[in-house]
Amino acid sequence: MSAPIKGSGEGGLKTPQRHPLDWKNPDFYNEKSLFKELERVFDICHGCRRCFNLCNAFPTLFDAVDESETMELDGVPKKVFWDVVDHCYLCDICFMTKCPYVPPHEWNLDFPHLMLRAKAVNFKKGETKFRDKFLTSTDRNGKLFSIPLVAQLVNTANKIGFARKMLQSVLGIHAEADLPAYQSDTLKKRAARRPKVDLTPEPTDMTTGKVALFGTCYGNYNEPGPGEDLMTVFEHNGIPVILAQDVQCCGMPKLELGDLAAIQSARDANIPVLAGLVDEGWDLTALVPSCVLMFKQELPLFFPDDLQVLKVRDAFFDPFEYLALRHKEDKLKSDFKTSLGKVAYHAACHQRVQNFGMKTRDILQLVTDTQVETIERCSGHDGTYAVKKEFFDASMKIVRPVAGRVKKAEPDHYGSDCPMAGHHVAQGIGDGSDAEHPITLLRKAYGI
Ligand code: SF4
Ligand code: SF4
Ligand code: SF4
Repeated sequence: MSAPIKGSGEGGLKTPQRHPLDWKNPDFYNEKSLFKELERVFDICHGCRRCFNLCNAFPTLFDAVDESETMELDGVPKKVFWDVVDHCYLCDICFMTKCPYVPPHEWNLDFPHLMLRAKAVNFKKGETKFRDKFLTSTDRNGKLFSIPLVAQLVNTANKIGFARKMLQSVLGIHAEADLPAYQSDTLKKRAARRPKVDLTPEPTDMTTGKVALFGTCYGNYNEPGPGEDLMTVFEHNGIPVILAQDVQCCGMPKLELGDLAAIQSARDANIPVLAGLVDEGWDLTALVPSCVLMFKQELPLFFPDDLQVLKVRDAFFDPFEYLALRHKEDKLKSDFKTSLGKVAYHAACHQRVQNFGMKTRDILQLVTDTQVETIERCSGHDGTYAVKKEFFDASMKIVRPVAGRVKKAEPDHYGSDCPMAGHHVAQGIGDGSDAEHPITLLRKAYGI
């Protein structure tokens, strides 16, 4: 079995270690044993309360304890346990940065993975809402809604108040939540039109110098611009880039739903293709931190002995981590034409928990006359949490401090590595401005 994955160690004295998920064990889905573990962990959390302000899962638990007759966990109705599970969107921040009781501590506490187990139990019981299955079918929705006329229709309907009210009452998608537009000119089409650039890869110690971009559902169907920007920036730095073909959604939305069979399918569809690219010498990257995390951390915890999964993990990089590795060996150009001024940069949780440091900030700061203010708080978006009728208000509450920090900074630009988080921050600011992805800013700075 492969070694557990190590975390940052910010919370405890020893470096946190993540154990592989025991998801093939029938007891994983046993509701009685799940509740025994929920009671054990919730009781520790009630005594600790460090995570009170990370998300809405912990306040839901702590408020229920405080309002109960006994003021202990035994006074909390079991229904509230499920509410806590529903409020967790598996950002991993509590495990990676706060909790002193994660392994190797004897209490062996992995809050996000316990929430994942509860979601998987719920999914297996068939109690998952149609709305949630629909929202997490990002590939299928993308294929359908990016058909030219359909895209026009869906995008127009999403802006009409009456249609949004219907969507809220029929499907439970909040009428005020920003929904991403669909693009019929997908990243796949745009990449195919790009002129071929003849570049000879220059390897470094850690990189092969040629990159296959995993387009992601969001990057392909909703916001192809940053994908094009990445290709342009990488090629400007002498790195040949291709768009990985014949791949599908990384599986993260289904993971957050507890649909673990879909994780197996995502693995079967993507890993052989990506491992094949690695065999041909391509490094891998993606612009959505959650997708990078899926390949670097979640899939290896599901399939710890799968050599192809581990091969893909070892070749997968965050884009700015990649540029920083190249910069270390003098292979990043500094021929910037435009300063960016002041940039308010939101570090996405799913990137922070990858523990490679603030590479986006470091690279943006290389641009002449550019100051970057980093904001390390969750945006509360999570892809689907912020659009659900019952969670929209909570997500707007979570984003408020992030939006407040951006406003206070009075930046020339703001954005997040997580494009959805960036737009959610923009909704939190509410002045009509919008976030720009850091790779878009870097392209701007190069003037290319
Ligand atoms: S994983 Fe994230 S959302 Fe879930 S409980 Fe921890 S901090 Fe909250
Ligand atoms: S997850 Fe850990 S740090 Fe957070 S409240 Fe529970 S015990 Fe405390
Ligand atoms: S900031 Fe982005 S990556 Fe982090 S939980 Fe929110 S949506 Fe997910």
